[in-house]
Amino acid sequence: MLSNKLLKPGLYSVGSSDGAGPTARLMGGRCRCGYVFFPMQTYGCERCGSHGDALTPCELSAHGTLLAEATVHLHADKNRPAPFTIVKVALDDGPVIRTLLADGSAPVAPGQRVAGTLAAVGQTESGETVLDLRFSVAS
Ligand SMILES: [Zn+2]
Repeated sequence: MLSNKLLKPGLYSVGSSDGAGPTARLMGGRCRCGYVFFPMQTYGCERCGSHGDALTPCELSAHGTLLAEATVHLHADKNRPAPFTIVKVALDDGPVIRTLLADGSAPVAPGQRVAGTLAAVGQTESGETVLDLRFSVAS
């Protein structure tokens, strides 16, 4: 059994696995007023200003529709290999997020359906595979 380590365990968890690898569940939040946001935070609702008990964690589907994409060809941080593609995704559950397109993904265009998966992005010293959230064209 290979062990995996999530790069940002506060933002997502591993959902069911499909042929393309483990799907992601996003850890968002919901306000008493109905507003849904990502990531979970307790500072206050962006719509109504409620805080504290009004905000509760909820799992969001990692499926959504692509709004925009931009490929970065040169990054100021030399440790950040380019090119990579940033995508803006309207999640089916409401929030709009900016995230990364999976390496090797087919080109995407606004309006396309996309889904988040947990992709291997490195390895720990003890040999665990490090997983991070990446979006690609929904199958
Ligand atoms: Zn609210």
